[in-house]
Amino acid sequence: MNIPVYKKKKIVVVGSSNTDMVIKTPGIPRPGETVLGGEFFMAAGGKGANQAVAAARAGGEVVFIARVGDDIFGKQQVDGFIHDGINVEFVVRDKEAPSGVALIFVAPDGENSIAVASGANARLSAEDIRRAKQAIASASILLMPLETPLGTVREATEIASAAGVPVILNPAPAQALGDDILKQVTYLTPNETEAELFTGMTIIKKSDLAKAAEALLSRGIKAVLITLGAQGVYVATREKKELIPAFKVKAVDTTAAGDVFNGALAVALAENKPLSEAVRFANAAAALSTMKMGAQPSAPYRSEIEAML
Ligand code: ADP
Repeated sequence: MNIPVYKKKKIVVVGSSNTDMVIKTPGIPRPGETVLGGEFFMAAGGKGANQAVAAARAGGEVVFIARVGDDIFGKQQVDGFIHDGINVEFVVRDKEAPSGVALIFVAPDGENSIAVASGANARLSAEDIRRAKQAIASASILLMPLETPLGTVREATEIASAAGVPVILNPAPAQALGDDILKQVTYLTPNETEAELFTGMTIIKKSDLAKAAEALLSRGIKAVLITLGAQGVYVATREKKELIPAFKVKAVDTTAAGDVFNGALAVALAENKPLSEAVRFANAAAALSTMKMGAQPSAPYRSEIEAML
């Protein structure tokens, strides 16, 4: 058995858990179109769960705060977290709502199209977060996507920032965020589309990235990391702006690339790696994830990430 040479840091992830039903199609169906010849598989997904699993495999001690339904999908999801060594003390089995489900189409070039029925995820409450207050306040870092209600995200952000715990907010799927939340965010990790939505700017050239990042920094965020798919990540702080390139790989499914990026980033930052080194670590993890099908099945292990680096 491999004994890790690093000390595991506690990472709290607040977010969604879904069962992904994926069809690999010859092309993504347009409205009104039926595409035949697909290939079906089912895998654990949901942005929060993907990020939790990615962080656990990248070497974090992960506490996941979530809601799943009291059904077969919820049971499978929780079994998966336990298998990955994730603390599920704060994963509530909701008796009144079904587990979250996502229907996903993946085209041969790795592009995807997704519809989500949130189910129990939509009922993750501020009260659920308060129950986990100690866990959040004692974490090295808090990581959250936006697939759960905003009031929940706000509660977690407030507990973390009152305790001096850095917050990574992955603003996906994009939705409007008030400055009350944003000013407590340490690292914001939008993709290009989300960055455009937040700033109302169109990003075409590198100078547009600088302007968008500057606009976000001015709202009180410490570091803005705009992920650019196969191009890498634009990293901006008040002191420094740089484009850190992605690793060159043959992508087959980019479904959870952003989630794996965030999970691995949380681990590297919790281990106090400098920002650009943490981003390289996360880029390596995300690139590896694009080489495999599925969300959680594609999240790489620490040894694979280190080998890539
Ligand atoms: P999202 O999946 O949230 O839209 P991106 O597409 O920007 O996010 O991808 C997130 C990160 O995953 C990128 O910054 C990069 O590190 C990695 N990544 C995504 N696609 C590729 C690819 N084709 N090759 C290598 N790395 C990739």
